[in-house]
Amino acid sequence: MKLEVIEGEGEARRLVRPPADPASLSHQQLREGDFWRRIPAYAGVDEATFLDHRWQMKHSITKVPALLEALEGLVSQGFLDDAAEGFARAPMAVRVSPYLLSLIDWESPYEDPLRRQFIPLGSTRLPDHPKLRFDSLSEQADAPVPGLTHRYPDKALFLALDTCPVYCRFCTRSYAVGPDVEQEELEKVSLKANKGRWEAAFAYVASRPELEDVVISGGDSYNLRADQIREIGMRLLDIPNVRRMRFATKGPAVMPQKILTDDAWFGALVEVVERGRQLTKDVVLHTHFNHPNELTSITKRALDRLFSAGVTVRNQSVLQRGVNDDVETMTRLVKRLGYCNVQPYYVYVHDMVKGVEELRTTVDTAIFLEKSVRGSTAGFNTPVFVVDAPGGGGKRDCHSYEHYDRLTGVSVYTAPSVKPGREFLYFDPIHLLPEAGRLRWADPAEHNKILQEALDKAHARSR
Ligand SMILES: *Cc1c(COP(=O)(O)O)cnc(C)c1O
Ligand code: SF4
Repeated sequence: MKLEVIEGEGEARRLVRPPADPASLSHQQLREGDFWRRIPAYAGVDEATFLDHRWQMKHSITKVPALLEALEGLVSQGFLDDAAEGFARAPMAVRVSPYLLSLIDWESPYEDPLRRQFIPLGSTRLPDHPKLRFDSLSEQADAPVPGLTHRYPDKALFLALDTCPVYCRFCTRSYAVGPDVEQEELEKVSLKANKGRWEAAFAYVASRPELEDVVISGGDSYNLRADQIREIGMRLLDIPNVRRMRFATKGPAVMPQKILTDDAWFGALVEVVERGRQLTKDVVLHTHFNHPNELTSITKRALDRLFSAGVTVRNQSVLQRGVNDDVETMTRLVKRLGYCNVQPYYVYVHDMVKGVEELRTTVDTAIFLEKSVRGSTAGFNTPVFVVDAPGGGGKRDCHSYEHYDRLTGVSVYTAPSVKPGREFLYFDPIHLLPEAGRLRWADPAEHNKILQEALDKAHARSR
């Protein structure tokens, strides 16, 4: 941005900022039109049909061969083979809505940020980090009742169900979410929508006066029926100690149509929000947009409907390499969310999840992005960049490490209010480390030394 001095000297100097070139306000330019028609399978689909959430659900693709078939003619055979290879090794189930498929630029499938998130390729796969574990956040270890994680003093995470409107290959909860996948040697934990399990969770929340805040997630709140949204919402609101609730969903990012046309679901959510307001309790929606391309004019209409009905919406993104790890994209995402009345709440440094090593990036990148984004818009619309410390330390501001070695990629965090006296380690992806760091990790005999060094240095400085 240029500042032009137009008149005067010294104190009298006036700095006049010329109006911004509209082209620089790309966050305001949301995709419009019938973009889905470029996909051969949807070429004949009119707007009313495309906006119908039932049509989106019915035509969501849940089988790899069907997905590859829908792409025939759009991409090269080489790409199709690459994707088939990627899926053959993927530990997650597949579910892709027509809307999501239509947002991908199939002329550049290798680079497209949405393709990277949802369609794995054999050719880009990297070995997992040697320190990676299933359920890296240890959510099960902190669960007094199956599907209810009580890690922080005053808040709990309630995993109400195990299905989603989309399956993200980078999901932290691949230990529980989605149907079992044949390639997966590990048994998943069962977190089905089940009345008995819910009752046990409600009873636990009611038995803990310190629990003021419940996150309802899964799986995904989008897949709760309207009566289930009402049941969970009203039951929790009736518990005197509960002051705040959030329904978490990826839905608006992959199927905003539901907000526009599923009046029963939308109505149930608004009912809970309004009942909360009568009781002076806060009920909000937390979404999961990762890239500005996920917000179109359809999304804006959906978010406008929520805003007009008085529903506060916040967003949690995951930082992903090749998706949103550059300043321009992250700034546009943050500003576009704000423009649509969504508060960007968190950007997570990618959890250590199996099979998605090419999507992770370094803590250093998160720190750089935070510095670059801060100042570009309102402070309350500026996300906090966090590391969800593996092992159950909870979310930590990425800058708050006790020690960070950029050579070995090891960062050490403490969480005095959550797990006092313990240390939590995060590991940058090895392939992004300087050569000396990569060489050390190449030798398994070095691994314990690398960890011990990091912990010793952290001890030397921590209070
Ligand atoms: C993220 C999370 C919460 C909510 O934490 P906030 O920082 O308030 O968003 C609660 N419980 C668990 C287990 C979580 O992972
Ligand atoms: S929608 Fe959320 S819970 Fe479901 S697969 Fe994606 S990241 Fe995981």
